[in-house]
Parts: sequence; C-alpha cells; structure tokens
Amino acid sequence: MSAPAASTTHDTAALNVLKRVWGYDAFRGVQADIVRTVAGGGNALVLMPTGGGKSLCYQVPSLLRPGVGVIVSPLIALMKDQVDTLRALGVRAAFLNSTLSLDGVREVESALMRGDLDLLYVAPERLLLPRTLDLLDRAPVALFAVDEAHCVSQWGHDFRPEYQGLNVLPDRYPHIPRLALTATADDRTRADILNVLQLGGAPQFISSFDRPNIQYRVANKEGPKTQLLDFINAEHRGDAGIVYCLSRKSVEETARWLQTQGVDAVAYHAGLPPRERNSAQERFLNEEGLVVVATVAFGMGIDKPNVRFVAHLDLPKSMEGYYQETGRAGRDGLPSTAWMVYGLADVVNVRRMLASSDAPEEVKRVEAAKLDALLTYCEAATCRRQVLLSYFGEELPAPCGNCDTCLNPPSVRDATREAQMALSAVIRTGNRFGAAHLTDVLMGHATERVVSLGHHQLPTFAVGAAHDEKYWRGLLRQLVSLGYLAAGEHHGLSATGKARAILKGEQTLALREDTLAPRPSKRDRDR
Ligand code: ADP
Ligand code: ZN
Repeated sequence: MSAPAASTTHDTAALNVLKRVWGYDAFRGVQADIVRTVAGGGNALVLMPTGGGKSLCYQVPSLLRPGVGVIVSPLIALMKDQVDTLRALGVRAAFLNSTLSLDGVREVESALMRGDLDLLYVAPERLLLPRTLDLLDRAPVALFAVDEAHCVSQWGHDFRPEYQGLNVLPDRYPHIPRLALTATADDRTRADILNVLQLGGAPQFISSFDRPNIQYRVANKEGPKTQLLDFINAEHRGDAGIVYCLSRKSVEETARWLQTQGVDAVAYHAGLPPRERNSAQERFLNEEGLVVVATVAFGMGIDKPNVRFVAHLDLPKSMEGYYQETGRAGRDGLPSTAWMVYGLADVVNVRRMLASSDAPEEVKRVEAAKLDALLTYCEAATCRRQVLLSYFGEELPAPCGNCDTCLNPPSVRDATREAQMALSAVIRTGNRFGAAHLTDVLMGHATERVVSLGHHQLPTFAVGAAHDEKYWRGLLRQLVSLGYLAAGEHHGLSATGKARAILKGEQTLALREDTLAPRPSKRDRDR
C-alpha cells in the first residue's frame, strides 16, 4: 500500500478509537474515507441510506480532533437515548434542547466551557440562540455535524425553517469542519444543502441506495387478500414478513384473514393497547416466521435482519416512504421481496386526499410531485430499480434483472385511441363520474343509472365495447396515475389540462400492455 505516512497514522488512530470505544474491527464502506476527510479538517456531504452507519462518520472524528463535536439534529426525542448509549461506552456526551431544565442547561454549558465534552447534540433552534453561539465562539469545537440535513430544503418532506438558519455555521465558523448527513436527497435537496452549508467544494460521499437482494414487484390490485395469500404461499411460507395497510381496520381484517388461512400473523397499529403492540413487536423480533400486518407506525427502529418480504396492500405516500418501508426486508443480504398491489381506487383516493388537504399550496405541490414520482414508478414499464434509484439521484447503468419488469417485461402498446375514448366519455358525462359508471358508458351497458342520465344517447356510448371492464379500469388507472385525469369528490374523475393534447391527437400515449391485456376475469371492482 502506498498511502502517505500521515494518513496511515490517522487511519490507525481512527481504527483504534473504533475498536476501543465501539468494539468494531473495521469501518464499513465509505466510513473510513469520511472519517479521514473530517478528522483531517475537511468538510463533507454524506448521503447514506438509513442503517448505513452515519453516526460513526461524525462520532469518530469528534473523538480524534481536539474540542467538542457539535451535532445538530431535529430529533429531540432521540437525543437522550443517543447520549445515554454514548455515555455507556465511556464517551463524554450531552445534549441541549427544550426538554432540559434551566439547571440542566447550565450544567451542560459549563461542561462545554470546561472542555469536558466529546460530543454535544443540539436542536437547531437551540444552536441558533445568541447565547449558545456566544458559548461556541469561546469553546473549542472539533466539528459541526448537521444530521438529517435534508431538513434545510423546502423540497424535502421534513422541511424545518430553523435549518435554513444554519448558514450561520459557514459564516461564523468558516474554519471548523462541517459535515452534512442525510438519507434522502434528490438533486434539488442536495443543492439546497450545499447552498445553506456552503459545501460547494467539499467532497460528497454518496453510498449506493441500491439493495440488490430485494426483488421489487408491483401488480394490479385484483383481490388483494387472495393475491397476498397466494404470494406468501408460493414464495414465503413460514418466512418473517411485514404487510403494510393504510387503515387500522384493514390491518385487523387482513391479519385475521391470514390467520384463518393458516399464516402465523399478528396485527400492529397505533390504536392497539401498548401491551398488545409490544408483544407483537417482541414476537416479530424473536420468532422465525411471523407476519406482522401493520400501519406505517410499525418498523421505525426495528432492526430484524431476516425479514424476507415486505408487502404493500395500499400505496405508500411517497418514494421515500416506499424505499424506507421496503428497506426493512433483507438486511441480512439474502434474497427478499418487496411486493405491492395497487388499483384505480387507491390512486383516486390518494390524489383526492392530497387535493382536499388544508396544507399550504407550496406543501401540496411538493407532495403531489412526490406522489407523481411514486405513481410513475408503479406504472413503469422499464426496470423498477432504475426508476427507484434515479429518484434518489443515482444512475444504474443497466436494467437490474431482479425486478418484475426485468424478469417479465411488459409490452407497451399505443393506446392513444382508447385514451381518447375514455377522456371523451369523462368530458361528455360532465367530468364528475367515477370509473364504474364511465366503464359502463364505454362498454355500452345500458344500466338504470346510465339510462336515467341519458348517457346511453351519448356518441361515446359503447365505443369501447371491444374491450372488457378490466381493460378500461386499467386504462383509467393509468390516466389518473399519469395525471391526465384528476380525482375529485366521490371518486369522480375529470379531465386535466394535460388531456387536451391527447384529445386533439397532438400527443400519443403508450401504456403497459399487461394491465390492458384482456384476461378472463371475474367481475371485480377494486374498491
Ligand atoms: P444511520 O444513522 O445511517 O441510520 P447508524 O449510524 O445508526 O446508521 O448505524 C446503523 C447500525 O450499524 C448501528 O447499529 C451501528 O452500530 C452499526 N454500524 C455502523 N458502522 C459499523 C461498523 N463499522 N461496524 C459495525 N457496525 C457498524
Ligand atoms: Zn429491474
């Protein structure tokens, strides 16, 4: 090895600290490079998925450099635990946030001034107080680590206005190393972080978000419980898994149904008594093959290596949510499955929920864009892993070979004419009917409702008789997913501005064949 002598010495010192304090033998992946950079006085941006090992990237350099490592974190609820854990390892750690009494604050401040701290966790609003900054002006500081750095960005899903005040760090302490860490950063968020913390010239350590052992699959929702059972029976009988549902009610129903079908399953949601929740969690951690059916409340901080599948019976809210939830599968690196079903009703529901929320316009726009990204992923006809990773700013050079679209490529077919039929059915019926009624009109079903509304006399009536109901529902779902139709009150669909180009024939539309292909199917409406 031809590394310069100085860096070898540093590396040895870092490894010694790692071994002595944490008992670990080696750094993981890019940790060693990050520690070397920051311990040597440099700035850095660290992008690493959750569980990747971000903490050591600032903890080790804080111990190697003179002075205290100041960690800015918005997660006040976690600070005490983090500090307790570090103290148990013999590290002189403390925190400053609004949960401390005045005496508590004074005690930490004087330890800081005496130079008796290795690590200080501080909430952003506390750091920005003139009083805290005055103290930091006078205390020796080893480095500033800004954890959850994506909070600086309005584009991010946890925007915190205080984080924008962190531009005080480069202005006021230009010579103290700054380290920004996050597990979620698309291009815009990353640009915001670099800007606020002035990390323009700093090295960026980007760990891959790819989880090659997870097989990603998304299917059209037909009979979700039966689809789930078939999936478990065919591929994951006796395996530990997590099934996510949106509502507490569907959590309980699904768990009960799985039990009657001989699958060892328990329900978990925030509405259950704590005793029941704890026992579900304990069982999940300790038993080999338990399936937990849960709302998103389940999973935070659960580190079980051999979860073999994560199933979604309802759409997550964003790509970030999907990535985090599916990421609980296969931590041991063995083959695992991320499986999801979704249907027209889901798309309509989430779109409507979003449109009717009273969040500020700005926030709604960001959320809508995030949902669009997820729906694009769901409707993808190309490698899912490529779509997923590109959302996180990472390019996978070739299709992965381990997702449903790679393993079983859907054909894409021009559906412009059918889309025109569907859009004109929507418009001619007044932009207010749901998919079931529209399908009746398109297929020429003269139901009582169709007749009483006079819709059997429309020129669009029966123009789509050549296709079956499932075809039209699949097509309508894709039109909603892709933003040509908007969802309003009572599942009503209306044409958006985007639809015009298709209606005028200025734009063509290619859609996935598999969801369009007529198959022998029972009449099932995915409500
Ligand atoms: P993140 O903050 O990125 O979510 P953490 O810093 O909490 O991740 O680390 C996740 C887990 O990995 C922790 O249990 C941590 O102790 C462990 N870990 C991190 N780095 C190493 C390492 N070099 N050797 C062994 N375990 C490690
Ligand atoms: Zn693929």
